[in-house]
Amino acid sequence: MTASDDRVLIVGAGPVGLCLALKLAQGGIKSTIFEQLADENFLDQVPRAGTNHAATLEMYDDIGLYQRLEPRGIIAPLFHYWDRAKGELIAEFDHAVLKDDTRFPFALQCERIKIVEEALAMAKANPLIEVRMGTEFVGFAQDANGVTAHAANATGEKQTALGRYIVSCEGARSIVRKELDIEFEGFTYADRTLNIEVAYDFRRHGYTDRNYISDPEEWSNLFHWKGPPERWRVHFPTKPEEDPEALTQMEAMQARLQGFLPTGKPFDIVGCNLYTVHQRVAEKFRKGRAILAGDSAHVNSPIGGMGLNSGIHDAFNLADKLVRIWHGEDESLLDLYERQRRHIAVQHTQAQTIRNKKLLMEKDPAVRQKNHDELKRQAEDPKLARQFLLRTSLIESVREAARIT
Ligand SMILES: Cc1cc2nc3c(=O)[nH]c(=O)nc-3n(C[C@H](O)[C@H](O)[C@H](O)COP(=O)(O)OP(=O)(O)OC[C@H]3O[C@@H](n4cnc5c(N)ncnc54)[C@H](O)[C@@H]3O)c2cc1C
Repeated sequence: MTASDDRVLIVGAGPVGLCLALKLAQGGIKSTIFEQLADENFLDQVPRAGTNHAATLEMYDDIGLYQRLEPRGIIAPLFHYWDRAKGELIAEFDHAVLKDDTRFPFALQCERIKIVEEALAMAKANPLIEVRMGTEFVGFAQDANGVTAHAANATGEKQTALGRYIVSCEGARSIVRKELDIEFEGFTYADRTLNIEVAYDFRRHGYTDRNYISDPEEWSNLFHWKGPPERWRVHFPTKPEEDPEALTQMEAMQARLQGFLPTGKPFDIVGCNLYTVHQRVAEKFRKGRAILAGDSAHVNSPIGGMGLNSGIHDAFNLADKLVRIWHGEDESLLDLYERQRRHIAVQHTQAQTIRNKKLLMEKDPAVRQKNHDELKRQAEDPKLARQFLLRTSLIESVREAARIT
């Protein structure tokens, strides 16, 4: 291998790819990022993920990203669990009980689009990171000495790049994962989730910035985002047979919102999208010099806001291993990355998000009551609330991964 290829090739300038590059640079390692979107359309992406948990905020802070995100987000120390049919607040959890566990006893509501905008600016300013925008990765080859990535720019001009490792941070449709013939194990929910973005202050009805609203017929999630425009995201379930176009008609969305909160006046709808939810984890996170991280390794329901967060945790875990390998430690550290992060993807992220959805849509009245009583008990007892929030803010999963050898 020549000196010029002593770097990590990263596919995708999403939050995971960018954080990986920034953390590697902090450890003195060079990287090249391929991003298919060009500078001109990079910010045209839908906002997507937005709840950043305490464990992730510590990581952002470590690379200097947190200070850029905080002014663009909403600090949310509370979250609520509501019973929609009864219009009752069941439980209020306050992250203040985590004050001895983290410097960030809250979640930061800051959407993916803002995270990538800030992280991309930092990556471009870093001399150890080469960012190739408007460059579509198309495939790669590996041997005992390194990897060669193949890409093409907007005019179709072919490019190659050499590196010691390649990390797929290109999202759920990962070409790297497919080329490695790695199974994406799991399932896809038949129903889709309707996301409606509304400029309306729901706090005047007792809601806080993050709300989970259970209902046997129509559960919801309700989240507050900083503007402009200042807005709230409301999630609704849909039936598999429902026509996507009909679901996103203005009158249909207004009717749904009025069903949720009858104000008698039309809501100011500023955006909407309908998405399919998958629960999948790659059977392997690594083959040779090719490694998967973030959505290319695992995708899950957004209920609980764990997808982006656990992807960032992959990036930090992997960067730590790669830096140690660069300093002469054994390559088997990459197997440890897989053992630690795959375990978390299956046992925490996937298990928890499946449970979250079940809890929201439970139909049996007796089970619903039991679940709600339990949530109330946990929220009211500071010791139980701390345990609950250590889990939901992903601090526990980071600690558990570190214990795996
Ligand atoms: C509606 C919605 C709401 C969500 N809400 C939350 C939430 O509240 N909290 C949470 O934690 N998660 C949430 N998620 C999940 C979250 O968005 C993802 O987990 C996260 O964005 C994954 O980051 P990533 O960097 O792995 O991949 P991505 O964000 O998908 O980024 C992949 C990047 O790779 C680029 N790319 C892809 N293919 C190529 C190629 N061939 N060549 C070059 N570049 C390529 C893409 O353009 C993109 O920039 C949500 C998802 C959706 C859809």
